[in-house]
Parts: sequence; C-alpha cells; structure tokens
Amino acid sequence: MAEKLLYIGSGDVSRLLQYSQLLPVLERALANFSSEGGGGVEQPVRTTLPVPKHKGFLGVMPAYSAEDDALVTKLVSFYPASSPTTSTHHATVLLFDPSNGILKAVMDGTVITDKRTAAVSAIATKYLKQKDLDVLCILGAGPVAVSHYEIFTQMFPFKQVKVWSRTRQRVEKFAETVKGPVQICASVKEAVLDADVVITVTLATEPILFGEWVKPGAHVNAVGACRPNWRELDDELMKNAVLYVDSRAGVMSESGDVILSKAEVFAELGEVVKGTKPALCEKTTVFKSLGMAIEDTVAAKLVYDCWEIENKQKS
Ligand code: NDP
Repeated sequence: MAEKLLYIGSGDVSRLLQYSQLLPVLERALANFSSEGGGGVEQPVRTTLPVPKHKGFLGVMPAYSAEDDALVTKLVSFYPASSPTTSTHHATVLLFDPSNGILKAVMDGTVITDKRTAAVSAIATKYLKQKDLDVLCILGAGPVAVSHYEIFTQMFPFKQVKVWSRTRQRVEKFAETVKGPVQICASVKEAVLDADVVITVTLATEPILFGEWVKPGAHVNAVGACRPNWRELDDELMKNAVLYVDSRAGVMSESGDVILSKAEVFAELGEVVKGTKPALCEKTTVFKSLGMAIEDTVAAKLVYDCWEIENKQKS
C-alpha cells in the first residue's frame, strides 16, 4: 500500500465527476467492452455474495481498462430491506496503480454508482430515441431516480416529467430534491401512458411496467431488478420490444427480466455506440442495465485525474 493513502469523499467525488466529462469516457468504455476481443477491457461478471441473515448482498466488481490504464475494484453492498429509511446501496471504490498493483486511492463509490448509471441510461436514450422526446416517465424515486432526473433534464428537451413511486411520501421527497418541475402520478399506468421515454428504477421484484401501456416507439431504460428472479417489466414488453443490454454475460447471469421472459438480446449498447449493431429507433426499445465494473473504473479514473489536476494547481 502507498505510504499515504488518499481518500476522496462523496462531496469531492460529486464535485469532480462532471457529466460533460463522464459521458464521452463512458461511451468509449462501452464501445471497447463490446468490441471483438474485448477492446482492452478485462471484466469478469460480478460476484454477488448473499448475506441471508440480514437480507443483503455484497457485490465485488473489478475491472481493468487498457486504454485508460485504470485498475479498479468496486465493493458495493445492497440491502433492499433498508428502503426507505437509509440508502439501499453503499459503495466504495479502490483504485490501484496498474503498473505495480499498489493501492493509490480509496473513494466514495455511491455517487459514482448513481452518476454512471444515469449517464449510461442517457447514452442508451441518445442512440435509441432520437426524436419525439416530449414526455419522460420515471418509475421509482430513490437516489438513482434523482441522478436520472438530473441528467435527462439536462441532456434532452423534455416538456414534461412524470414520476411515480409506491408511496406519496417518497415521491414528494423526490420532487423536493430535484431542481425542476415534476408531475406526481398516482399510478404506474397514468405515468407511462403517453411517455416517450420510461425509466424503471425501483426495488420491484414482480413486473410493474406492462407492455400494453407503453407507447409504440417509446424507449425504456430498465435499471432495477438486478437479481435473476426479480422483475420490473412484463413478458409482453420484454418479448415485443427490441432488447439492448449493457452486457450479454451480465444479463444471462443476473437479469430476471431477461432470463425469465426468455427475451432475445438484439445487441449490447457498446455495439451500437461502436456502429457494429444498428439503433432501431423507430421500434419500441428496452435497454436493460445492470451496471458494469468498467463503468465504475473509468469514472473513478476520471475522478482521480481531476483530483490530481486540482491539487497540482493548488501547490
Ligand atoms: P432504492 O433501492 O431505495 O429504491 C427505491 C424505490 O423503489 C422507491 O421509489 C420505492 O418506492 C421503490 N420500491 C421499493 N420496493 C418496491 C416494490 N416492491 N415495488 C415497486 N417499487 C418499489 O433506490 P435506488 O435509487 O438506490 O435504487 C433503485 C434501483 O436501481 C434498485 O433496484 C437498484 O438495485 C438499482 N440500481 C441499478 C444500477 C444499475 O447500474 N443498473 C446501479 C444502482 C442501483 P417507495 O419508497 O415509495 O415504496
């Protein structure tokens, strides 16, 4: 270990990790990941360790990016029963010197998780829904819903944002947290019916979004349901939409929506970014996101590089 270990806390990560810099770095990482031969990305499918006594999980997510020369592991705990009093996920990122394996920095990983997840959904939407971006629907009102609101309202010209959560209390807190207008909906159906883009970002374990409600040609970012027996989307939607995923190996191991519906994966998002698979924008599309270690790796490297620049300027 380095003699003096650097710790970058959540406030600094939040300030240093700007979407304008994060988006191109993530696009490049997704394209590399989905390239023939792996594009210099080393990333095993994440290990998820159950903690049955406390109904929790601990995920270990290592990755190396040759292009960025970045070696990182994220440790993320996921305790669904904690909702809504405390956050359900807590993450820490370890950044190593890839030339000798020495740990260089430890940083908050929760902000990284929230921002990179929202940024990847925004990238999927940019490629898969290129026109008619009037109504955005967000199902769920936790921290990852907040980060989605922030980037989607910055990047796209939505005229209306409709939000639903199971409890009024949670959705009202969301509306207070985000800096911008929100229409609170009493049911999923009301929120979804006229939406051009739908984001599902809940802890649901059974389908809450039904294909019959989704407008033809809409795009869905499916962000929750990260266990092989959990669902957010019904079979009709999964089977009739064109299905894009972050990682084929990831969804076959962890996504209940994909595994249980037996829906066919059309492409990885990185293949679309790279141009080796088409974006079928005129069709109804679903992007199934589970989150990948390579996203955390390039985001953490960006935070570290920004921190170094800032500190060189100070000295
Ligand atoms: P939480 O995990 O705290 O989820 C909160 C939201 O889920 C609230 O709106 C809550 O509603 C709702 N909810 C809870 N239980 C249910 C249920 N049974 N049915 C429907 N809604 C329910 O918030 P986060 O923002 O931290 O995470 C949201 C999701 O995003 C999680 O599934 C998480 O695993 C996932 N995630 C995905 C990532 C990725 O890369 N794809 C990365 C990080 C997180 P209420 O409080 O009103 O009851």
